[in-house]
Amino acid sequence: MKSEMSRNGANHHENVACPFCGILCDDLDIGPSGDGLKVLKNGCVKSVAGFERPLSEPKPQIDGKDVSLDEAITAAARLIKESRLPVFGGLGTDVDGIRAAIALAEKGGGVVDHALSEGQYRNFRVLQNSGWVLTTLTEARNRADLFIVAGSDIHKLHPRFFERIVCNEASMFSDNPPKRTVVFLGEGLDQSAVAGKRIGEVLTIPAKADRIAEILDAMRAMNKGGAVSGDTIAGLPRAAVEDLLERCKAASYGVIVWAPPSLTFPNADLTVQAISEFVKEINLTSRFAGLSLGGNDGATSAGAVCSWQSGFPLRVSYADGTPDYDPVRFSATKLLDAKEADLLLWLSSFSPDIPPPDTDIPTIFLAAPGFKSARTPKVYIPVGTPGVDHAGTMVRVDNVVSLPLKKLRQSNLPSAADVLEKIEAAL
Ligand code: SF4
Repeated sequence: MKSEMSRNGANHHENVACPFCGILCDDLDIGPSGDGLKVLKNGCVKSVAGFERPLSEPKPQIDGKDVSLDEAITAAARLIKESRLPVFGGLGTDVDGIRAAIALAEKGGGVVDHALSEGQYRNFRVLQNSGWVLTTLTEARNRADLFIVAGSDIHKLHPRFFERIVCNEASMFSDNPPKRTVVFLGEGLDQSAVAGKRIGEVLTIPAKADRIAEILDAMRAMNKGGAVSGDTIAGLPRAAVEDLLERCKAASYGVIVWAPPSLTFPNADLTVQAISEFVKEINLTSRFAGLSLGGNDGATSAGAVCSWQSGFPLRVSYADGTPDYDPVRFSATKLLDAKEADLLLWLSSFSPDIPPPDTDIPTIFLAAPGFKSARTPKVYIPVGTPGVDHAGTMVRVDNVVSLPLKKLRQSNLPSAADVLEKIEAAL
């Protein structure tokens, strides 16, 4: 191993967990490079952008003017104290950061919601209403012989998913496992990463994303022996749907993969429900599971921590002193649009590029350096990135493991948790 140390004290690190998307790959090599970091092995476009972002340590600001951290914390606490209904949004942080945000929301009487909740709720509604059968990344990687990618551009959201989970040459159970079939059920999905010895057939079924539910419902009915009429189903030749059903029945371990952020059409939760119900149905005679991806920007950690702290998955209000859950009323966007909230604390520690909602109410931004917004925030406090500037923990998208994150370089940026705890103490 190299032992070169950069000017900022960074060392060479192996088996680093990457916090820049929900699948938290934990096999990266990161080394020093001048004042910064370099991804040496197992990177992707997202991880390179995240880890190699140059270190900058701007001062906190009030109304655009540099101040000390203590002054910024005092000002933030005063704003929260004076607020009737503060919203704690964004929540792009690690487990400690979410814990601290929820504690602050509880003390400040506010609402917590994540920047990517809209996508997450396509899943939560189904889980709450009817349940599902999901697998994990490890199970899928080691056991699946059929992957169906449902209407989701997985490669864009998770650039190494196919490399690590679908195209792996060996499995835990065999050095020479059987080939896999990969079906892209949807239009315009990037298939470029599906290649290699492990891959058998790659099929494209160009279904419109908002008609995937019809296809799965028809397959479910056909599997039960019900009558499904017509030469086409959801705009596809009937034979293509029948062929897909036969492949599902023949699979020894089939997996339907989707990413809720990709399903951006109205009532997309019904597509997640159709996937989940088909999986339950086909499981009666075969082995099948769903695999939901997404969970970027700490969304999975936020949902998990909020669930174990409050009993509810985000969109929780502490305005009355106890957790009050309403996935419609307590959407941060809705509260801001309806002018019900009078203060926004926006937290984005993984990337400076996630824009906060445009609002004319006072704002407190805890964000990675380089953060831009259309309006000058009342208070801006730059924070470090978990897994780069400080150690931490994150929950992986399949919700079965929490991975430790390393501090990779010397940085004076505080963690979001530190700042939030100090604001809470000053309330
Ligand atoms: S696929 Fe995601 S977790 Fe893996 S290296 Fe890329 S950004 Fe990081």
